[in-house]
Amino acid sequence: MSYDNDNIFAKIMRGEVPCEKLYEDDNTFVFMDIMPRADGHCLVIPKTPCRNILDASPAQMNACMATVQKMARAVMKAFDAEGVTLQQFSEAAGGQEVFHLHFHVLPRREGVKLRPPGSMEDFGVLKANADKIRAVLAEV
Ligand code: AMP
Repeated sequence: MSYDNDNIFAKIMRGEVPCEKLYEDDNTFVFMDIMPRADGHCLVIPKTPCRNILDASPAQMNACMATVQKMARAVMKAFDAEGVTLQQFSEAAGGQEVFHLHFHVLPRREGVKLRPPGSMEDFGVLKANADKIRAVLAEV
């Protein structure tokens, strides 16, 4: 399977599709999931192309993991969370829908279930949640 340069996350990085951007460094980019399964649900992606963990290089994986840890600490603080769930899906049979490598970072609280997938968030709420994360990023 080859990488499609016109996947939605590639378009987001090129600025062709809007997003609530949270963070970027030389190698990774982070933004809010538009259909969050928990408040603060965000996505960490490498800036360079790869479909998923099956074709990613060690450098792409390492860069993503360092940013995943940073975002996990940020969402814990921003949402007064008690834990974090990471999700990653590779290829359609593995549950992947967007074919640019991404890691879901979800803040969790005891007894609060993830919401079902597929519900678009209100953009005001998405921005407010993004603001909470952006406010703590410098501290983590
Ligand atoms: P998956 O490939 O199964 O990990 O699912 C793709 C994820 O990307 C889902 O959680 C979607 O809600 C999310 N998503 C799809 N389009 C956008 C977008 N334009 N902005 C932010 N998140 C998106």
